[in-house]
Amino acid sequence: MNLMDDMHWLATHWHRLSSHVRCGRVPQALLIVGRIGIGKTLLAETFSKRLLCRAPQEYACGECASCRLFEAKTHPDFLRIEPEETGKIIPVDAIRGLIANLALKPQYSGRRVVLINPAQQMNVSSANSLLKTLEEPDEHTTLLLLTDSPHALPATILSRCQRMDIPVPDRAMALAWLAKQGQDGSRAGVLLALARGAPLKALGLANDGSVEKRDEFFSAWCDLAKGGMEPAVLAEEWSKYSSETLVDWMVCWIMDMIRLRAATRMRGVENPDLAEHLRILAQKTNLRHLFRFLDRLNAARKMLLGQVNRQLLLEELLIHWQRSQTKDLIQLPK
Ligand SMILES: [Zn+2]
Repeated sequence: MNLMDDMHWLATHWHRLSSHVRCGRVPQALLIVGRIGIGKTLLAETFSKRLLCRAPQEYACGECASCRLFEAKTHPDFLRIEPEETGKIIPVDAIRGLIANLALKPQYSGRRVVLINPAQQMNVSSANSLLKTLEEPDEHTTLLLLTDSPHALPATILSRCQRMDIPVPDRAMALAWLAKQGQDGSRAGVLLALARGAPLKALGLANDGSVEKRDEFFSAWCDLAKGGMEPAVLAEEWSKYSSETLVDWMVCWIMDMIRLRAATRMRGVENPDLAEHLRILAQKTNLRHLFRFLDRLNAARKMLLGQVNRQLLLEELLIHWQRSQTKDLIQLPK
């Protein structure tokens, strides 16, 4: 029994990877694309372990010396390149260190796997440095690059990787998996909404107070729309919280408002528990304002990948949101 057996949304991707191995056509560089919490890391690690295993079947055997080293996180031929802290860049020194390692033969399995995660955290120098490795393939080495933001990777890197996209699973499939993990009922639906459909992320949010935090922010966001609160005050209050998460929540609410304007049915609505509030807000808001604000939120997401004053960015977004409720489009900030 493998952890992934229950994750049916990963099945076709796994079968593709395992058929590459069976046919001896393992890509030299594979870019795995999907939302945070969709299972990219689990898929890549399962594949890496399978590649390095000495007695593999459909999955790695779990018993050979290679599998034991892999499980102990001490496999010399499995190299993991990650930022030192979440959100930080992968410095060029890390890639230079990797290249120095690649000059040596694999120590153990005759094969080596490098996992770069999240790949978009490489800065320009790191990406340029990695490019040389991608241009001069080494038959022993498989590079796995993971990202939730492929648009943030240089075209030169994208063009040299085989790409595998993992879409968000069907809602019923994700809810069935969450129920197996002990999360069911309306709360599971809320968790899935907060995770923007990514099941592993939804499970991770189950015990960290995210549902309560979202409700608190949503309530303040509604007050802001009514003019009962100052954007600067709210931005300061929430500046310590993950800006990415706040932007994701707002994207999700605006998309639901657009859906609720277009149809009265709840189908496709990601926040069923907030639908009545969102419907009332949507009825009061010009549809063009909603699309403008959505564009602004998507631009903010990209800005968050770089160096930006997060509190100021949040304040600007909240001002935009408040004005979109009260003023003409022409007066909205650009
Ligand atoms: Zn094994």
